[in-house]
Amino acid sequence: MDTKTLTFTMMLVAGALALVTVILALYRREKHLTIYAAGFVTAMFSFLLFMGQGTLSSWLSVIAANLLLLFFYLSLAWGLRTWAEIPRTWPGRFNVYILVWLGVLLPATYLWDSYLARATVSSVLIVVVTGEFLFAVSRTKREVSTVIHRAAWLIGLGLIACHVIRIGLLWLPQNAEASLLSNNVVSSFTFIFTIFFSILWTGLILITDAASLVKELSLKNEVLEALATTDKLTGLSNRHLLETTILSEMDRSLRYSQPLSLVMLDLDHFKRVNDTWGHETGDLVLKTTASRILSSIRGPDSVFRWGGEEFVILLPHTNLEGGCILAEKIRQTIEAEPFPTVGPVTASFGVAEWKPQESREHWFKQVDQALYRAKNGGRNQVVRWNSEDTLPIALVKLEWRTEWESGNTGIDNQHRRLLEIANGLLDHSLTSQNKAVLTGLFQELLDDVLQHFAEEERVLQTVKYPEAEHHAELHRQLVTEAVVLRDQFLKGETDATSFFNYLVGKVVIGHLLTADVKFFPYTRADSRASTSRS
Ligand code: GH3
Ligand code: MG
Ligand code: MG
Repeated sequence: MDTKTLTFTMMLVAGALALVTVILALYRREKHLTIYAAGFVTAMFSFLLFMGQGTLSSWLSVIAANLLLLFFYLSLAWGLRTWAEIPRTWPGRFNVYILVWLGVLLPATYLWDSYLARATVSSVLIVVVTGEFLFAVSRTKREVSTVIHRAAWLIGLGLIACHVIRIGLLWLPQNAEASLLSNNVVSSFTFIFTIFFSILWTGLILITDAASLVKELSLKNEVLEALATTDKLTGLSNRHLLETTILSEMDRSLRYSQPLSLVMLDLDHFKRVNDTWGHETGDLVLKTTASRILSSIRGPDSVFRWGGEEFVILLPHTNLEGGCILAEKIRQTIEAEPFPTVGPVTASFGVAEWKPQESREHWFKQVDQALYRAKNGGRNQVVRWNSEDTLPIALVKLEWRTEWESGNTGIDNQHRRLLEIANGLLDHSLTSQNKAVLTGLFQELLDDVLQHFAEEERVLQTVKYPEAEHHAELHRQLVTEAVVLRDQFLKGETDATSFFNYLVGKVVIGHLLTADVKFFPYTRADSRASTSRS
């Protein structure tokens, strides 16, 4: 290939690389990318000028072209130093390189017309600038992966080797007299490896840049992930992480037939701490509690902040017994040493071991129920969930509200009593063993409902409630449905929870809220009238 074609090829390559880096610089708007882009644009013009040798003046086709080419090499080092955050991105010695180049170029072109001197010094300068490039890669405080680091050295050393070979070839007697653009082995060699290394360098620069972006992103992701899974106050894992961790631990427990236990603890009378010493002190107690829990657990155990002053500890390879021992240890650790400012603080604990057939929700209800019992049993204690324990029918107790008062003492007393019986049912568990007891309680509730309905219908007639007949019809429908459900429950076709929910939810509370409230104006008016009469 003749050198004109090679120079043209070089210009096209430089042009393509210029385009790529300009687009990247416009897109990312970062200084180092702008410098690279400027470098490649300069290289393209440099080769354009080289092509003009013979037609353009030597000021342009030799001096300007060579200076632009040197600037291109320096810009790669400059850009890299900018990216690498090395102080003084364009150090004074870069100007010295340019001056040295001019100092050789001018006399070698106009005084001696020596291609040999120009080519030798240009190669020496390129070797020096390549050294600058490698220096920047090595000096950066940014993390550069070993692969990229090695690649940079390999490419850099390759480029240096090529220029050393070029100098050697130049000084062979038969090549010394050739001019840059004459068609000989040295210039073909130089052009080809320059193309090769330009593409390699650009590739490497872009890879290094992309790699550092990926690294930054993954660091940011780590921070985000930590934020999403960590409780800010205590530094413990949060509820969100527990939900994902617990499933994989259940999986593992099942696969390796290892026990898995859960401890839930809740500080006792924590509201008082906040009320007496303020929220900040409350926060401090929570932090201290977290560190006391952490100091008591083993490696595979994990602690989570479950809610305000509730913590959960997940214990792989631990059975109920082990869970209770640990809970007791933590209970003592919390109790033993008074907390700063607030003095002694205690906590209540629930412990439950997972049974492979159980759902996570069921397991949590058990540990929650154990904790509830620890609170009810006087706090500052550990309560375990035994396998023979059963969950109550419903977990929430119903409380009487003043707006449920009809004004008629008899009706209100009956409504209150119905609620009491329903709440009493909450303390009973759902087992086949105590089905007889449950049936008795359900029947008692149903009997009271029947008695109450009859009494209410009588009162409604007395207060002349216009919808009295319709209301009595509603009562009949509710009772009919309740009797059907009771029979299904006795035959085992319906579980206690459904029966309970119907009796309490629909017959007692639901009816009170939707139908009974309508007659309240009549009973209340009647009550006011009778008060004024007396
Ligand atoms: P007990 O559990 O023994 O029945 O009584 P308690 O006083 O601890 O009861 P409860 O669970 O109702 O009160 C919890 C209190 O915890 C209420 C809330 O103000 C407080 N709390 C929740 N989260 C935080 C928090 O992040 N910081 C502080 N300082 N207080 C919190
Ligand atoms: Mg509490
Ligand atoms: Mg609480």
